[in-house]
Amino acid sequence: MDDSDYYPGVLDAVMEQVRSHIGEGRVADYIPELADVDPDEFGFSIATVDGGMYSTGDQARTRFSMQSITKVFTLALVMRGHAGSDVWKRVHREPSGNAFNSLHQLEFENGVPRNPMINPGALIVTDQLLSDTGDAVGELRKLLCEETGDPDLHTDNLVAESESRSGDRNRALAYLMASFGNIRNPVPEVLDHYFRQCSITVSCEELARAGLFLARRGRRADGSELLSVSDTRRILAVMLTCGTYDAAGEFAYRVGIPCKSGVGGGILAVVPGRCTVAAWGPGLDAKGNSVTAALALEAFTDVTGCSVF
Ligand code: GLN
Repeated sequence: MDDSDYYPGVLDAVMEQVRSHIGEGRVADYIPELADVDPDEFGFSIATVDGGMYSTGDQARTRFSMQSITKVFTLALVMRGHAGSDVWKRVHREPSGNAFNSLHQLEFENGVPRNPMINPGALIVTDQLLSDTGDAVGELRKLLCEETGDPDLHTDNLVAESESRSGDRNRALAYLMASFGNIRNPVPEVLDHYFRQCSITVSCEELARAGLFLARRGRRADGSELLSVSDTRRILAVMLTCGTYDAAGEFAYRVGIPCKSGVGGGILAVVPGRCTVAAWGPGLDAKGNSVTAALALEAFTDVTGCSVF
């Protein structure tokens, strides 16, 4: 069956599962600016490796805050190999089993975070990207603009300021790591880039398109190499094992493909060799993952049989 005959039926099945749950969960209110988002919004997009785009939900083209989903893209930029990057000496690759902003393990693990998909690990990656390029958020924005084909993607400054005002926990994480010598740039500068990075907005369609290089084994739409095949596979492994924080086991069980969530309510998922899926619903569960986006992805893999297992 042709993709254009197949995916509309998949979208119907996804909506069928999700419809009665729209509005469930709690919008992230620890970042005050995110608390104003309408909890009833929902969007869902599938981007295929050969250029197809299939969307459902009223808000598939509405922009939302990327938040932790940016952690995948900054990691890709660092792994793309700027000279001197020794990022894997500074952050591990193990699931944390703790909340994404927990300080707990850092104190007795010498300021080396468990993985790059949680806040302390992402602060290390941003610090590395800053050392490698001089402008971490600028490089990230450039990558996202190139991959979506939209030159207009940008940071929502109100969200970034709101994050900064309410960002004492991230400050604590960064200074604790700095006390172990694991942050190289001035902490306020790293935090500034991190807050602006998290506050970039995208729609489901844009996010699905931006992530397609991960489904194409590191290749961009024009066939050129963004990341090596091996590094792409490694990023997907980190997404699967760590991308949804202390719910990564639950996501592997329920969804079964690499995912990365953010407290803006978005989730990016990748079916290697085939497609990416972006889902968005602002209501979060207790671990900070979107309730409706998770349900939608679960329905998607159930209906399509897509799984890395
Ligand atoms: N900007 C958010 C924070 O640092 C990102 C967290 C997330 O999306 N899980 O708290």
